[in-house]
Amino acid sequence: MTSESKPAHFLQNLIREDLTEGRVTQIATRFPPEPNGYLHIGHAKSICLNFGLAQEFGGTCNLRFDDTNPAKEEEEFVDAIKRDVSWLGFEWNGEAKYSSDNFDQLYEWALHLIKDGKAYVCDLSAEEARHYRGTLKEPGKNSPFRDRSVEENLALFEKMRNGEMEEGQCSLRAKIDMAAPNINLRDPIIYRIKKMAHHQTGDKWCIYPSYDFAHGQCDAIEGISHSICTLEFEDHKPLYDWLIENLPVPSRPRQYEFARLHLNYTVVSKRKLKQLVDEGHVDGWDDPRMPTLSGMRRRGFTPASIRNFCEMIGVTRSDSVVDVGMLEYSIRDDLDKNAPRAMCVIEPLKITLKNYPEGQEEMLSAPGHPVRDDLPARELPFGRTLYIEKEDFREEANKKYKRLVLGKKVRLRNAYVIFAEEVVKNDAGEIIEVICSVDLDTLGKDPADGVKPKGVIHWVSADNNVDCEVRLYDRLFNDAAPDAGGKNFLDCVNPDNLQVLKGCKAEIGLAKAEPEQGYQFERNGYFCRDSKYGSAEAPVFNRTIGLRDSWAKEQNK
Ligand code: ATP
Ligand code: MG
Repeated sequence: MTSESKPAHFLQNLIREDLTEGRVTQIATRFPPEPNGYLHIGHAKSICLNFGLAQEFGGTCNLRFDDTNPAKEEEEFVDAIKRDVSWLGFEWNGEAKYSSDNFDQLYEWALHLIKDGKAYVCDLSAEEARHYRGTLKEPGKNSPFRDRSVEENLALFEKMRNGEMEEGQCSLRAKIDMAAPNINLRDPIIYRIKKMAHHQTGDKWCIYPSYDFAHGQCDAIEGISHSICTLEFEDHKPLYDWLIENLPVPSRPRQYEFARLHLNYTVVSKRKLKQLVDEGHVDGWDDPRMPTLSGMRRRGFTPASIRNFCEMIGVTRSDSVVDVGMLEYSIRDDLDKNAPRAMCVIEPLKITLKNYPEGQEEMLSAPGHPVRDDLPARELPFGRTLYIEKEDFREEANKKYKRLVLGKKVRLRNAYVIFAEEVVKNDAGEIIEVICSVDLDTLGKDPADGVKPKGVIHWVSADNNVDCEVRLYDRLFNDAAPDAGGKNFLDCVNPDNLQVLKGCKAEIGLAKAEPEQGYQFERNGYFCRDSKYGSAEAPVFNRTIGLRDSWAKEQNK
């Protein structure tokens, strides 16, 4: 999956060195989502990195649910995360793992620290503890409970575990150094009371380990060699190492950090995505406008396009913002190469071919793809009445308009040349039909009179087509940095992010379109059938992406 031409990134170099110098014999990574939301494109970067490194170096990658906080986590998210990782094309090592699988062991290790005089039960309230913690400039102060005896701590921790203490009444803290320059080392909390059932362990526990206490120890239990996380955990690394050094863990994982993905015109924070869902700005986590993997899947993104995007953006240790145009390029490129072609008239205008026999239909053939011979040819029913796009006809036009004009010719794609003779209007003066004549001697060849039509337009049979709804999506936000300082990202929601068109007419073969299968609707963009709405008889098609980058044009204006 890594391209040969691209220089190796720092983690690839580091792992190669670890292997050649014998520091590590087997590469083991993990992807550790918290099951409190759906995966988004930022997670895809971490997935491609962790699974990609394991593949590249013949190792393994675990899927581990980092489920230490029962308050926000749910089984629904566990299932969605598994589906998304598999869909991206990765296979985790063995069964999916849970931090909660190790709650017994973590509890034992908490006792171990207490017995070693390296952890204590502290009764400071959250507010008081903040006060004692100090600041970046000032050292903290020791908690008045710091010097409790081992026996007292064991007894109190037992009470915490047995539910004899209230939430917030006390916590278990590692005894490290209240004067440490790194605040994470100032006696961090390792266990909290939370009288709450957990989606995996039920009512078994009313105390839960902190992220910091659980994460590294689970890495050690699973034999993870390289624990890769995002840069905000850099300051936690000394604590990660302190815990590994002070506990009898079965292996010695090491933590490495990389920069998270930031994308312009996009928010990738589960909290904000949840807000978009909860407040009804979108229709669920899998709304095709969402940067979630489930939304992108419904929209028509392919796993390969997302993996290629992650490959293109690379892996570094410095934060930067990636242009969402790169993601759009990646899907456009994939669909251009792989999507079968089809015709769909989005705003139909009726055409009657006055010299074509009534009741007659013939089958024309069109290639499935301009260069991919492996994609099957399509059958296009052709008859006396057809539809073309409203915008493909004008009564008068200048030379730049290469479509159908009254008194002129145009070629119907994969079919004949037609000539516009007469316009039919309704009482409001709107054009509702164009009467044309067809030159049946023009299939695959120029008209005999030598006058070549200037343009080629798409069309669909009026009697034999699929009536469908088309949803044209645009970027969810119209501001390049919707969550930059001071802004409320909800104010940046693009009011024109969705246009729904009904009564669109697609070529008959699209009755068999499967959700997620992308098509190029010739001249209109890339589309796929929606998996949530519509039926085989009346499908809904989502526009995945336009044929060209309309935003780049907008910006260059
Ligand atoms: P969010 O900010 O969306 O809540 P998170 O880090 O809290 O993200 P987790 O479920 O803990 O979400 O993330 C699982 C893994 O994915 C972590 O290793 C995390 O570092 C990584 N990850 C999350 N967001 C990004 C991102 N934008 N870019 C790269 N990796 C990310
Ligand atoms: Mg997290």
